[in-house]
Amino acid sequence: MKALVYKGPGQKAYEDHAKPELRDPTDAIVRITRTTICGTDLHILKGDVATCTPGRILGHEGVGIIDAVGAAVTAFKPGDRVLISCVSACGKCEYCRKSMFSHCTTGGWILGNTIDGTQAEYVRTPHADTSLYPIPEGADEEALVMLSDILPTGFECGVLNGKVEPGATVAIIGSGPIGLAALLTAQFYSPAEIIMVDLDDSRLEIAKRFGATATINSTDGTAVEQIMAMTGNRGVDTAIEAVGVPATFEMCERIIAPGGVIANVGVHGKPVALHLETLWDRNIAITTRLVDTSSTPMLLKIVGSKKIDPTLLITHRFKFDQMIEAYDTFGNAAETRALKVIIEA
Ligand SMILES: [Zn+2]
Ligand SMILES: [Zn+2]
Repeated sequence: MKALVYKGPGQKAYEDHAKPELRDPTDAIVRITRTTICGTDLHILKGDVATCTPGRILGHEGVGIIDAVGAAVTAFKPGDRVLISCVSACGKCEYCRKSMFSHCTTGGWILGNTIDGTQAEYVRTPHADTSLYPIPEGADEEALVMLSDILPTGFECGVLNGKVEPGATVAIIGSGPIGLAALLTAQFYSPAEIIMVDLDDSRLEIAKRFGATATINSTDGTAVEQIMAMTGNRGVDTAIEAVGVPATFEMCERIIAPGGVIANVGVHGKPVALHLETLWDRNIAITTRLVDTSSTPMLLKIVGSKKIDPTLLITHRFKFDQMIEAYDTFGNAAETRALKVIIEA
């Protein structure tokens, strides 16, 4: 089969690779019909993710058709259409019993990281019964690819951890796919204001179409002042950090209102200054989280009911043999205006 293989920092190849085989009785082999590329894959390619070693097939998002199941798999059979969660969960360990699947002792985020991933014709998915979801009859498979990772990440790490409430003022720093996923799912709770901040006007335009009540281009360095002016110098009740660099986290520290929550979603590679000298008396909370995908069953219903349309995030479509082109397009988002790309078998 063909697969996109990480070859070490800065290097990748779309090449022939052995088809995966069942290893444990709880495994399934899934034939991938649609996958996508994540910002995390670009982090790996930069050499930022030490757990992912050269030779690994990348990708942790996708939908497909069950090709084979191990003897202990009872929920799925060959031919079933499934959504693959970016997080594998055994369902039995101490963390899984707390619905903290991201820290499953034999799972978590392993696909396309410590085991071969979904940017391939076939993938081995461990703990199949508790890590795959049946695709409802008539569902839009492209929409469901957005449920492997970005929708639950924006919702769980940003909206749920950020305690978005009716009437609240929310700022989302970063209008990429994850920030936009937080914007879409924050609206479940009817906040009064959602202010989107980014450096790119075209992404802010999309944010407006997705329901942002205000947008700020932070290129000139006045975003904090503008947010404070918009909120009567109060700040925001929820600040969602969806970039992962020190400047954006520190922006959240400056705009958070008394009693507010800073919900970090971004993947940080550098230390960030914690300004306790200004925050110690402000009754705030700071949260961090790796997505658990515990909200996936709910999100499947919401998308099925057309309450939100995650296909709005899809800007480009490719075939499997255009994998390298798909990476070039996604990796050069400032020019190509790519948000999410769909790669089809
Ligand atoms: Zn991802
Ligand atoms: Zn577990």
